[in-house]
Amino acid sequence: MTSKALLKFTPSGIYCEQADVFIDPWRRVKRALITHAHSDHARWGMEAYLAHNHSIPVMRLRLGKDIRAQGIEYNQSIRINGVEISFHPAGHIIGSSQIRLAYQDQIWVVSGDYKVEDDGLATAFEPITCTHFITESTFGLPVYRWSPQEEVFSQINDWWASNAAVGRPSLITAYSLGKAQRILQGVDHEIGPVFTHGAVENTNEVLRKAGIQLKASRQVIGQGPDAHKKKDFQNALIIAPPSAVGSAWVKRFGTHSLGMASGWMSLRGARRRRAADRGFILSDHADWDGLNWAVQETGAEYVYVTHGYSEIYSRWLREQGYKSQVVETLFGEEEEQEPSPTLDQK
Ligand SMILES: [Zn+2]
Ligand SMILES: [Zn+2]
Repeated sequence: MTSKALLKFTPSGIYCEQADVFIDPWRRVKRALITHAHSDHARWGMEAYLAHNHSIPVMRLRLGKDIRAQGIEYNQSIRINGVEISFHPAGHIIGSSQIRLAYQDQIWVVSGDYKVEDDGLATAFEPITCTHFITESTFGLPVYRWSPQEEVFSQINDWWASNAAVGRPSLITAYSLGKAQRILQGVDHEIGPVFTHGAVENTNEVLRKAGIQLKASRQVIGQGPDAHKKKDFQNALIIAPPSAVGSAWVKRFGTHSLGMASGWMSLRGARRRRAADRGFILSDHADWDGLNWAVQETGAEYVYVTHGYSEIYSRWLREQGYKSQVVETLFGEEEEQEPSPTLDQK
């Protein structure tokens, strides 16, 4: 390409000089475009944020009510100093977006995190034609291939039902933004009540207020006259962030079965290391086939690879004829980065 690259990779984040905006920056900047509300992408301290309308309430919950944030719809475009900027569904979590920046002969798409299976909750991923694509590679190895989610949910339902039949609570761990809501929507509520950890219920609450139709969930109440008792949990499914495991918070359930829902559960040993009784392979990231399909659909000549198996995946893309390189970012796998919960919340 003869013209100067529209985006560059700086110590503060991915930067578009022409529009003077950063995408998912990790240092304080004036204007930040945010792909989604996970903590490694939407960080505290930016002077102004632009994100999808559904990301804004969650960002206010996590970063503070008074952040300067503006919402945008999918496929709506704005123009800054000649650069056309638009947000497109990434299918990762509610509000998650790929951000497209077009200027002269270059079209860049920053995917953020994405998955290509439609989970019925996040707006489904749409491939966007571009010249330069920045992709994640969290599960960028051929060993990662997901089963259709219906199969995973029927495994979860079977596990829950067999526990409920003998009066044993089912505790399932899931990241509080994204996976938790996906489980809430995907399971069979006929089996029993669904309880949530406070970190999950706070997120559910702001999403409901934003107009997202979530199924019923109730927060576990630990103290006071309304406190739940052990017997309330006998046939229940309890959704909690991974960090709750091993904390005092789980003691109230007594003997229970522990399930974990994550893409990492496909790794031999991951479940054992984390003391789970059951591992369910459910991810909000694209698997190997999903990544390859998405990259191909963009038609991009240049593919930049970030978080995950970036070296390996980028080499694979070069072997397929793409101009590809690894870019260093501070994005990581959310499943590994759950903030510690406040114990014994009301
Ligand atoms: Zn994410
Ligand atoms: Zn991420």
